[in-house]
Amino acid sequence: MRTIEHVIGGTRRTSERTLPVHDPATGAETARVAAATAADVDDAVAAAGKAFVEWSEISLARRSAVMFAMRDLVDRHADELARLVTAEHGKTLEDARGEVTRGREVIDYACGIPSLLKGAYTDQASTGVDAWTFRQPLGVCAGITPFNFPVMVPLWMHPLAIATGNTFVLKPSERDPSASDLIASLYADAGLPDGVFNVVHGDKVAVDALLDHPDVAAVSFVGSTPVARYVHQRAGAAGKRVQALGGAKNHAVVLPDADLDDAARQITGAAYGSAGQRCMAISAVVAVGAAADPLVERLAAHARAIVVGPGADPASQMGPVVTAAARDRILSLVDASDADLVVDGRDLATGEGFFIGPCLFDHVGTDMPVYQEEIFGPVLVVLRVATLDEAIELLNANPYGNGAAIFTDSGAAARRFQRAVRAGMVGVNVPIPVPMAYHSFGGWKDSLFGDTHVHGPEGVAFYTRAKAVTSRWPGPAVDAAPSMHFPTAS
Ligand code: NAD
Repeated sequence: MRTIEHVIGGTRRTSERTLPVHDPATGAETARVAAATAADVDDAVAAAGKAFVEWSEISLARRSAVMFAMRDLVDRHADELARLVTAEHGKTLEDARGEVTRGREVIDYACGIPSLLKGAYTDQASTGVDAWTFRQPLGVCAGITPFNFPVMVPLWMHPLAIATGNTFVLKPSERDPSASDLIASLYADAGLPDGVFNVVHGDKVAVDALLDHPDVAAVSFVGSTPVARYVHQRAGAAGKRVQALGGAKNHAVVLPDADLDDAARQITGAAYGSAGQRCMAISAVVAVGAAADPLVERLAAHARAIVVGPGADPASQMGPVVTAAARDRILSLVDASDADLVVDGRDLATGEGFFIGPCLFDHVGTDMPVYQEEIFGPVLVVLRVATLDEAIELLNANPYGNGAAIFTDSGAAARRFQRAVRAGMVGVNVPIPVPMAYHSFGGWKDSLFGDTHVHGPEGVAFYTRAKAVTSRWPGPAVDAAPSMHFPTAS
């Protein structure tokens, strides 16, 4: 059976311990992936540390040229990347292609690194004194990523880390690791020197070794909230810069004045696309007043019509979930709920593949586990409230704060919502408000630990630190006596 290997300093190798990789559509084990030991992680960090010495000195022109080449290579291999994603994650090919495109857009942004790293210069800040700031890379940066976007989420991190002059060690999800190895090959083809981008596969052993390693300067993490909190605490205690993005429960508020046909279509795609396994999936609808009955009717009709099947089949609109354990957890949450199950997708969870059909709950209460838990599956819950204020209060009481959307025809209501809601990304008649690569992505509350969001300007800031220089080139001495005052402008 094929083994997916680490890429350390440009060399591929495995470890004694390996983990299974499955095709979620069939349930079959299709490969093994190497599980790094702490010694493997040491080697990867050492390779990255060695490469940093030269890479951090490489001109911006050359770094940008590598990114332009990488951009073209990712485009040319987009279909291959998408097929790897579908084979190990389960999402439909069309969805996987969309993921590759959104990830590649971060490389587009990184191509402009000479502009992004332009510092600020002040001429004659004081008499004969100039002052300027510029940003320098941190060193070896690590990325630890989840299963649900095996191409896009790592791409939120490494193009900007590398373009800003750092070197990188990626620990992708052990459930769908193949795409990261193809990305490593593409970087090599793009002319990136060995050791600048490394991949170590594995689980908690590899993660902990990265969090504790004294030569890792910064850690970017994306995954579930308990692990994000843990990563933030442990890497922070080890003195590293950390951004740790966690889980989500994204709400869509629907007002009675919304175009309910459009809202139902948009919410259906956002709730059940990728079998609900998106960090920006809509998993809770808050129907306001008279919107509820007609909305539930439309959502139910759409959910029942979704074609569920293998992601590689062009007829499928929704694939399986990622593992048997994920399917069983989702089933047990649905089984245990006493809310109204309007659409029941459990009968699809019978074969060898990890399938479960769309489920829709109505009349859900905030005290119910189907509302409180991040289900991360094709389950949408509808809560009913009387007013927009009540809806905002409900959203703000939720511990997560990733995305939030409102569907309305009223600019005033939308504006009130976007200002009052405590979430990092807000959509107005847009169900999945994932910011473009040149803005930054990140949630609030338990959806992000740390101060900086990923990609966009905050991504550049995260992977660099500022230096302020004050410079003076003395001419002939005017005043021979030393000044003992704290320097002020003159
Ligand atoms: P996960 O937390 O189980 O795993 C994420 C990474 O952490 C993986 O690389 C995994 O190997 C590692 N890991 C898992 N358990 C660990 C432990 N105990 N100690 C150290 N490392 C550990 O997440 P997942 O199931 O792969 O991904 C789904 C989750 O990611 C969902 O909660 C989803 O909302 C979240 N997510 C969030 C965003 C965001 O932008 N906020 C984006 C994508 C996914």
